[in-house]
Amino acid sequence: MGGIFGLCSNNECVMDLFFGTDYHSHLGTRRGGMAVFDGEHYNRAIHNIENSPFRTKFEGDIAEMKGFAGIGCISDSNPQPIIIKSRIGTLAVVTVGRINNKQELAKQLIDEEGAYFTEMSGGGVNDTELVASLISRKDNVPDGIQYAQSKIDGSMTMLVLADGGIYAARDRYGRTPLSIGEKCGDEKGYCASLESSAYINLGYKACYSLGPGEVVFLTADSMTPVVKPRQQMKMCTFLWLYYGFPTSDYEGVNVEEMRYRCGQSMANQDVANKTAVEADYVAGVPDSGTPHAIGYANQSGIPFGRPLIKYTPTWPRSFIPKDQSLRNLIARMKLIPVERLIQNKKLLLVDDSIVRGTQLRGVMDELRSYGAKELHGRVACPPILYDCKYLNFTRTSKPNETISRQSIMKLEGTSTVSDSQVRQYTDCDSKKYRALVEEIRQRLNFDTLAYHSLSGMLDSVGIDKCKLCTYCWNGEE
Ligand code: SF4
Repeated sequence: MGGIFGLCSNNECVMDLFFGTDYHSHLGTRRGGMAVFDGEHYNRAIHNIENSPFRTKFEGDIAEMKGFAGIGCISDSNPQPIIIKSRIGTLAVVTVGRINNKQELAKQLIDEEGAYFTEMSGGGVNDTELVASLISRKDNVPDGIQYAQSKIDGSMTMLVLADGGIYAARDRYGRTPLSIGEKCGDEKGYCASLESSAYINLGYKACYSLGPGEVVFLTADSMTPVVKPRQQMKMCTFLWLYYGFPTSDYEGVNVEEMRYRCGQSMANQDVANKTAVEADYVAGVPDSGTPHAIGYANQSGIPFGRPLIKYTPTWPRSFIPKDQSLRNLIARMKLIPVERLIQNKKLLLVDDSIVRGTQLRGVMDELRSYGAKELHGRVACPPILYDCKYLNFTRTSKPNETISRQSIMKLEGTSTVSDSQVRQYTDCDSKKYRALVEEIRQRLNFDTLAYHSLSGMLDSVGIDKCKLCTYCWNGEE
């Protein structure tokens, strides 16, 4: 997916930009970038961060960069920031989102307006360059941002460094959050950040959260509304469930607290459905299942335990290798078992979600090999049935590779499955849904398996349900 951060200060801003951007490293693994403006010139650095972290790669650049305003990104797609010279001035742009109609938009700009784009390997167009080009079609930056967002099928949140400040613009349906922080005192400034926790240690305090489609203009001493928020929102529920950093708040809801509530709700669901089991420990599948497991343990009264612990010191990054078997090997090497917490024990394992299930199956095999007596699985969201079309979340190269779709294909006796066939498996009270869960249980070798209901998961967020995106689970737009 990726993350973005930007700030305007009455002081040198590069160190704050460096750390604020780095605090988005959990959101992307491919490229990092920063651009600063010193009042006259732009200075930019972009690095590949696939094999070493953002901080290591940019240590050398921070001594060279100087400025009072800057933007940065962690990107899972094309290199950013993009800097263009246009008829509305020089613009530096970072984006997070997804453009489904990229080829059509680029072709239209090339054919009708003589635009041109940097040729990327594979012949694609850089998303952020396309956005910058769309912005520059209009007479000023705010109109350009709205024009770009209206043309894009997908979602696009962005920061545009121009006119001596930063335009912070949230995507039209608010799929991704955008929070504004303010620093007061001798050192003054405003920052815009996808993760609201990215600026806490930099001395900024949360002062505003943008609504869907809203645009504000930041300088060192002001935040000016530019475009009003739209009513309709479809914020990505997965940010609370898994992708987001636990210390952040979105729409006033803290991520870690939501995960505890999600675990509590699953424990209550087990009682209501008479599916509660006796277990020696509740354990999270490390690390993302852990907060959900804490919530489950607190509510059920079953002690929380860690039968598998992640060896973190030398594994700062995850899922880098392209090869699936190598990724599985790395996932297995990262987790070290505590035999005394496994042998002869009944464990209730909680995970945030199951995509392919390959790594979870590896965890199951390991726990069984260390003598676990019973293994029960609880998943904090319903089965994932549809591939995200709004944000660039990397899950599988093909949607039919998810364990849910693979299981449906087996149940239907087909080698492919249509969206309408899949829809029949979304109702958790249906026979088809129960057959799907049973098929997945067998594939993963659990003694019992239960998924959280959609309504239970949405209630755990706690904001109006119609403001949350549920496309992954029920295909509803
Ligand atoms: S489809 Fe899923 S991952 Fe994509 S925005 Fe919606 S909730 Fe988030």
